[in-house]
Amino acid sequence: MAFDWLNMFHGGMEKEANYAEKTLAAYRLGMRGKGSIVGVRIQKAENCCDAARQLPENQIYHPDEAPRLPLPECSQGRRCSCVYRPVMTYEQANKG
Ligand SMILES: [Zn+2]
Repeated sequence: MAFDWLNMFHGGMEKEANYAEKTLAAYRLGMRGKGSIVGVRIQKAENCCDAARQLPENQIYHPDEAPRLPLPECSQGRRCSCVYRPVMTYEQANKG
């Protein structure tokens, strides 16, 4: 599979201690800037922990209110592959 290397890369990568703060701060700036980012979503890893699985599906958070990743309950700690994804205005516009 073409994406195998990518999965391995992600799987072996630890998050920085300030991953959440750094990433959310960047999105916060993006929201202020051109206004193309409307919020943040949590993309759960396929093999993510129970804590992540219990997060609501497709929930859009304001960066100030998003749960911190890795989740405190996460059994994988900083190896957890759950990540933040920006939600763009055009995605919102496409929603019914
Ligand atoms: Zn996790």
